[in-house]
Amino acid sequence: MAEIIDGKAIAADIREEIKADTQVLVAKGVTPGLAVVLVGEDPASRVYVSMKEKACAAAGIFSDEHKLPAETSEADLLDLIATLNADIRIDGILVQLPLPDHIDESKVLDAISPEKDVDGFHPYNVGRLATGNPLFQPCTPYGVMKMLERTGVDLNGKEVVVVGRSNIVGKPVALMCLAEHATVTICHSRTKDLPAKVAAADVVIAAVGRPEMIKGDWIKPGAVVIDVGVNRVGEKKLVGDVDFDGALVNAAAITPVPGGVGPMTITMLLYNTLVSAKRRAAKG
Ligand code: NDP
Repeated sequence: MAEIIDGKAIAADIREEIKADTQVLVAKGVTPGLAVVLVGEDPASRVYVSMKEKACAAAGIFSDEHKLPAETSEADLLDLIATLNADIRIDGILVQLPLPDHIDESKVLDAISPEKDVDGFHPYNVGRLATGNPLFQPCTPYGVMKMLERTGVDLNGKEVVVVGRSNIVGKPVALMCLAEHATVTICHSRTKDLPAKVAAADVVIAAVGRPEMIKGDWIKPGAVVIDVGVNRVGEKKLVGDVDFDGALVNAAAITPVPGGVGPMTITMLLYNTLVSAKRRAAKG
């Protein structure tokens, strides 16, 4: 039976380390600051933003909240981003997505200073990641990498299969695995014979958004399975993209849903904010 990778415990350990490092910085007169911008009333976004605020408070990071009405104009939002770019107390800027339809999302993300882009979505940071010299790495895939590292999985020379090619998970996690010297295959909805591709993998990273699509008997004996998918089934139940119970039989280690990759995303947001504050402190 597979070892279950405890994302909650790994995230809690990293958050303690962030808190300790933050205290050291604060003692030097630099308090890490994260600006969180929410436009509108989307219930899920409100929950995410409040989770981020609580996590900042627990880590000792200053969180600067901007809750704007849904009818906020694009120009006003861009003005706010410009103000935050120039604000010395702010090390990271996060604009909660999705934005209302009348606002051009990419225009807003592109307006964030790459040096405060703790979400890692700015084209500058995407380019830095693609060229193997990252400045900020996007939080969910970065969390996947930290989990693999803390589980003792060495990717050097391994066959990694990533299922999903989105800009927020699939593509960046593939680039990160490549940087760790894995041989990476990226699969998507047009991939032929997905079961055979998955069966060849030493490490499977699933980021599809389809409940339990990857079957347990596709998994190679001894493989490590990281399930990024979060799918609501029925009223309350959350499941991943991988058939967890089936995969337990063959896998050496697997992340559960919930309690796997999920807790790592906000953790890496705090981590990126801390790293940004350390850069500020180093500049003096
Ligand atoms: P997207 O919908 O943007 O991308 C899904 C990808 O899966 C696409 O590349 C798509 O291919 C591919 N895909 C769809 N159907 C199939 C199929 N039948 N076979 C193979 N590939 C397929 O999703 P995201 O990347 O944003 O998210 C993926 C999952 O991860 C979701 O469940 C999401 O909720 C979860 N997630 C969890 C996070 C967390 O834990 N913190 C954070 C972010 C996401 P194509 O490109 O061809 O359409």
